[in-house]
Amino acid sequence: MVDSVPKGLLIGGQWIATSGAVPVENPATGGTLAEVADATPEQGIQALDAAVAAGPAWAATDPRERGEVLRRAFEMLHARADDFALLMTLEMGKPLAEARGEVTYGAEFFRWFSEEAVRIAGRYSVAPSGGTRLLTMKQPVGPVYAITPWNFPLAMGTRKIGPALAAGCTVVVKPAAQTPLTTLALAKVLQEAGVPDGVVNVITTSHSGAVSQPIIAHPRLRKLTFTGSTEVGRTLIREAAERVLKVSMELGGNAPFLVFDDADLDRAVAGAMLAKMRNIGEACTAANRFIVHESVADEFGKRLAERMGALTVGSGIDDGVDVGPLVDSAAVAKVSELVTDAVDAGARVLTGNRVIDGPGHFYAPTVLHDVPPTARMFAEEIFGPVAPITTFATDDEAIALANNTEFGLVSYAFTKDLTRAITVAERLESGMVGLNQGIVSNPAAPFGGIKSSGLGREGGPEGIEEYLETKYVGLAL
Ligand code: NAP
Repeated sequence: MVDSVPKGLLIGGQWIATSGAVPVENPATGGTLAEVADATPEQGIQALDAAVAAGPAWAATDPRERGEVLRRAFEMLHARADDFALLMTLEMGKPLAEARGEVTYGAEFFRWFSEEAVRIAGRYSVAPSGGTRLLTMKQPVGPVYAITPWNFPLAMGTRKIGPALAAGCTVVVKPAAQTPLTTLALAKVLQEAGVPDGVVNVITTSHSGAVSQPIIAHPRLRKLTFTGSTEVGRTLIREAAERVLKVSMELGGNAPFLVFDDADLDRAVAGAMLAKMRNIGEACTAANRFIVHESVADEFGKRLAERMGALTVGSGIDDGVDVGPLVDSAAVAKVSELVTDAVDAGARVLTGNRVIDGPGHFYAPTVLHDVPPTARMFAEEIFGPVAPITTFATDDEAIALANNTEFGLVSYAFTKDLTRAITVAERLESGMVGLNQGIVSNPAAPFGGIKSSGLGREGGPEGIEEYLETKYVGLAL
């Protein structure tokens, strides 16, 4: 599978080799999987030039035809689901079953936006004072630069490429250097699905800042869309501010997971496993702080620790493996450091608290109880298989703890009381809330955060709006 993936840059429909190369590691073995092209800043601008050149024709392509191209790509992703799943497992580590789940989820953005392409609508109204007619029209924003992270190599690409193409925009995509292969394979699928040359361009590079800066500063770029850490997002917003560039930012999270005293504990534990362990804990939506009512916290902790302790850790391509490796050795060191900090501050270890010897970058699923809210892991993304529990006595205390973070991507709450559920959902400071469920991602819903978790939404009817400008025409009769 790896051999059949193009390794060059995709610029204007041509696959271009470079003198340098970026090695791609298999995190389960520490070995090198492949090498891909290493773009220079000049090649980054060439990719943007190609997107600019292809822009007018793509914007003028019938919406139905834009949608059909996406629909074909959706079907091809399904037909090649096993290949894409294997590729993601090899370059990123997630178990094969989860990687297959990401193919389904990622492909769905192409289907959703293939349907949205033909529903871009404006408005016609009469001015309140009469006479003038107000025409409101939607137009593609123009060439887009899309930067994606390593944790969902397929879905973070389709969630940007899908709406951009549906809206009539052309794109330059830059995947993370750690996981470029899935994006390159995706670009090949898009070519085969009939995407014209220059409409989708891909650059891979070992120096993302130096290559991205001139693209963001270029007067022909119209939109920057980024998924990644809040730290890098801040840098990119500053760079984009120079040109008042339209930006969408899907940034870091620090999700609270609230369990009230009336919650169905079986459901809460099942939801916790999903919210914590999806993607080995390496998800922006990962439950990062378990905030549990004091009357049920011991029972919840016991059941969660039993489930977490029973998980099989290993290489994602092996049968029966539940938890793959973390993405690199730095990720293992960070997780280990956060756990040590919490234990030193008085947290009790219910299971785990162990780096698993290599090769590969493994950490044992861990549950910590009585974690002081001042522990570092309550302020930072853990991005690993660690579930820290703290307790609360009143609903007000639970909400205050949950909102005590600069982030606001997603929150989870478990309760059987409908009034409490709605009240809590309204008071939680996050762009998304999972009520009695441990997963919120859905292509038909607006995914995104508030506070330092980002700007804009991906998916749902809102998703395409990020790639459209609104123009108003006043017509005197
Ligand atoms: P990251 O370090 O911020 O990197 C994300 C992307 O930005 C990569 O492609 C990276 O390329 C690139 N990049 C880094 N520095 C850059 C710069 N100065 N200029 C331009 N591009 C630059 O994040 P990550 O470690 O890959 O991903 C994990 C983070 O993403 C977590 O914080 C997670 O919460 C967040 N995330 C958010 C969402 C969401 O929807 N809100 C979804 C998934 C992940 P290189 O790696 O090649 O340098």
